[in-house]
Amino acid sequence: MLRTHHCGELTKGDLGKRATLAGWVRFYRDHGGVLFYDIADSHGSTQAVFDPVATNSEDLDRLEKVLNNIGREYVITVTGVVRDRVEGTTDARNPTGEIEVLIEDAKVLNRSKPIPFEVAEQKNSMLPGEDLRLKYRYLDLRRREMGSNLRFRSKLISCARRYLETQGFIEVETPMLTRSSREGARDFLVPSRNMPGQFYALPQSPQLYKQMLMVGGVERYYQVARCFRDEDSRADRQPEFTQLDMEMSFVEMEDILSMVEGMYAYVWKEMFDEHLPTPFPRIELKDSLARYGTDAPDVRFGLEMEEVTDLVKDAPYEIFQRVLSKGGMVTCIDLKGSLIKEQDTDGSVGRKQVDRLIDWAKSQGMGGLTWMRMTPDGLSSNIVKYFPEEVRQAIVERTDAQPGDLLLYLAGPRETVLRAGGQLRLKLAKDLGLLEGKGHQFVWLVSCPLFQKDPATGGLTSFHHPFVRPVGDVIPEGKDCANGMGHSYDLVFDGSEIGSGSMRNHDPEMQRKVFGILGMDEATMQKEFDFLLEALEFGAPPHGGVGMGVDRLCAMLLGCESIRDVIAFPKNKKFQSLVDGAPTKVEEAKLSELQLLCLADEDD
Ligand code: ASP
Repeated sequence: MLRTHHCGELTKGDLGKRATLAGWVRFYRDHGGVLFYDIADSHGSTQAVFDPVATNSEDLDRLEKVLNNIGREYVITVTGVVRDRVEGTTDARNPTGEIEVLIEDAKVLNRSKPIPFEVAEQKNSMLPGEDLRLKYRYLDLRRREMGSNLRFRSKLISCARRYLETQGFIEVETPMLTRSSREGARDFLVPSRNMPGQFYALPQSPQLYKQMLMVGGVERYYQVARCFRDEDSRADRQPEFTQLDMEMSFVEMEDILSMVEGMYAYVWKEMFDEHLPTPFPRIELKDSLARYGTDAPDVRFGLEMEEVTDLVKDAPYEIFQRVLSKGGMVTCIDLKGSLIKEQDTDGSVGRKQVDRLIDWAKSQGMGGLTWMRMTPDGLSSNIVKYFPEEVRQAIVERTDAQPGDLLLYLAGPRETVLRAGGQLRLKLAKDLGLLEGKGHQFVWLVSCPLFQKDPATGGLTSFHHPFVRPVGDVIPEGKDCANGMGHSYDLVFDGSEIGSGSMRNHDPEMQRKVFGILGMDEATMQKEFDFLLEALEFGAPPHGGVGMGVDRLCAMLLGCESIRDVIAFPKNKKFQSLVDGAPTKVEEAKLSELQLLCLADEDD
């Protein structure tokens, strides 16, 4: 080893010891000939000092020369004796902040160009633009925060691995060069040189391989798997991401859900020394949409929507009547008085606050927002006169409104209302600080359909993917097949979908039936899925599994704004890899070897 101690290690207990440290020169300063260096490695930083008067060196001139030619982020080793810092110069925030190493010898191991941005700890607002950080990612990773993000991620993955291994899972690597398939997104294609004109696809997930592993008798498989999806670039998406992928044989849905719960409970205990209550709550898709306006509900604060269409349908309030006559809906959120900070002198919600909410609703494509205050004398607002007493009573009962509460109504086409209501919940939670001090919450989203309508074609597409096993092993016949339910589930964490899975079709006939409903004829099935269908014909056991995103979970647990902050070398928002410049053009010769012609313009 080039060092005897790392840079986060030395404390008062080491006073008088000789130590050699190796690391980067994060800072240096010259106090009248006495030189101070902060030497940092991945463990921390230690102050080293050169004092020509106190230093006990065999060759002071040489040492002075070396030290005088050191720059920021040079890689050096220093050897010296650990001593107390002068009173008043200790740094309580640094575990090594009470001591310093009095340099007796130093060696430059490597030099550094002037750094393009500050690597030393600083407030986030001081960070340079993200593209610069991504171009010099290796410098960005030297920052303490990034290093600790990577260590967090590594620990989380290793805890999950440990748990799964104790449960009899084995990690199996599945291929990266695979066959192009329909898993929902677009494939990244890789041309084959040996078979010109033919292409591999990078896996969107190991889905079909893990199913074939089950046919192969593996029974309990997992993999920290890289997945690739050629989707349009979006702010917080990556074209390649990491999934904790699992599959189990001879199980039912409950077994998979409880295995996942057990795994996260173990991870929580190991990572945070916290008890994670299991089983996780479950919510049916239709309830989630009606109450939270989304299929990835954040259930940590109330503000659930209550549909009141049936209660207000006969009330002569024009706005509602207009909406309802077109088949729309009315929903209501009871904003509890105790949550409202900005109140008028009489204790009711400030009018300005209500006006701001109305403006916000308009910005969400709603006509506006209807509101009523709950008072000791019942509901009040300038429109309550349109709602007969028994309707008001029924609303109060359904929403459980208490004096001081504000009832907010959204009316319009079903989808728009639910989406806006979901957004309104989140906005209120943010504005009112309802998430402050709240822990994390996993939820299972269950009772999902097998199919959904494709708005573009009018035909049916898979709700999850085409391999989901129907509930009860039946799909209603004819047109009613659209109502078929699937044994599938999503794992939702604090309002973000972080995983999804299902029981699979192990019966080849059922798999064919699903493909057929999705519009595939026999020839297409053979062309795209002959291998899967044939594998299922060789005694596939009942099986199911789940794939869970690692990047987003880490980012959320660490409070990072972007998943890029938990990925060592992520792509930027345009899906470019700035550290190495990918994607790039390739030489003509490479294309010819692959027998490919590039149609993109030279300057594209
Ligand atoms: N392959 C699925 C996905 O990536 C997960 C699963 O069903 O196991 O979403």
